[in-house]
Amino acid sequence: MSEGTGGTLKAQFRRLIAATGPIGVMHYMGEANARYYAARDPLGTAGDFITAPEISQMFGELLGLWLADMWHRAGAPARVHYVELGPGRGTLASDALRAAAKAGLNPEVQFVETSDALREIQRQAFPGATWHHDLSTLPTDAPILLIANEFLDALPIRQLVKTSGGWRERMVALEEDGFVCAAGQKPMDAAIPEARRDAPEGTIVETCPGAASVIREVAERLAAQGGAGLIVDYGYAAPQTGSTLQAVRAHRKVDPFADPGEADLTAHVDFAAMADVAQAGGARWLGTAPQGAFLRGLGIEARAQALAAAAPAQAAEIGAAMERLVAPEQMGELFKVMGLAAPGWPGGAGFAADVAGQSGEGEPG
Ligand code: SAH
Repeated sequence: MSEGTGGTLKAQFRRLIAATGPIGVMHYMGEANARYYAARDPLGTAGDFITAPEISQMFGELLGLWLADMWHRAGAPARVHYVELGPGRGTLASDALRAAAKAGLNPEVQFVETSDALREIQRQAFPGATWHHDLSTLPTDAPILLIANEFLDALPIRQLVKTSGGWRERMVALEEDGFVCAAGQKPMDAAIPEARRDAPEGTIVETCPGAASVIREVAERLAAQGGAGLIVDYGYAAPQTGSTLQAVRAHRKVDPFADPGEADLTAHVDFAAMADVAQAGGARWLGTAPQGAFLRGLGIEARAQALAAAAPAQAAEIGAAMERLVAPEQMGELFKVMGLAAPGWPGGAGFAADVAGQSGEGEPG
């Protein structure tokens, strides 16, 4: 940001807002997460939060097998790129590519990652990978097999709030020694789809322009280069209202406005909007399935049994990890898997009509 570089982000935001007025929630979230991810490894039990690939190797293995299956059915093109958005510690990529290799798929590895700290950890597992700051520099010469797990939720959202005077952007303003949300001055009605404009006062609608542009670019590349992808995240399958902005620190939910840059800020992903954007960009939308149904469809139970048979002492741990990934009250319903493919590519496993559940089921409470 332009306002001084010293001190905590909180102090910088306070100086900025005092000097120029309230900032948008999107500005706040974008800078907070850039600061948060730049210098730390937030994953795992010792960090702030844990993700599916860190819970069990089964998650990455099954996603890798899904990609390998798509690749085989598409005729097993000789050159192909594995692209992962926000690979974290590289755990998902390790598990996915180990499983894919057993199925004959050995792609070139392309990582989109902005965090220097996480790039360093990824480099240890994948010394031969190529890193990108965003999707624009990804190679264009071969099909892409893409995975993004808990990537879109970290991208900044814009919030619009209905006031007595119409729709306004939701801003972050100063309070005595903290921050408080307040409606902005500028009319924003044009940013709200007409069907939603009549919502009651106080209604909050979120959009994520960054996620939309990422999915647009993925779709355009699938259309131009061929390939397929899986986008996994927590979110809702049908449009909803209300703020989903949340902050997690040391495995506990905290106030998103307490310490910007020191907690992971996320918002739920609007999967219906993502499917629309993907199709407008030229990709085939294969479906959006609850994570539990998707992993069961790919055979997570059989995989858990095989792992437990090979390591009986860990059977209980393996069973518990599977439960965490698929049980409806854990990650099984709130998390969704969206499948995308190039127009000429085949359909994908796990998105049959019986597991697709695209019509607003499994929404977060
Ligand atoms: N996919 C991993 C990590 C999820 S955390 C897992 O499932 O464990 C979010 C990841 O996205 C981190 O690697 C983070 O550094 C990266 N990231 C966050 N915002 C980003 C951005 N704007 N551009 C690129 N990478 C980003």
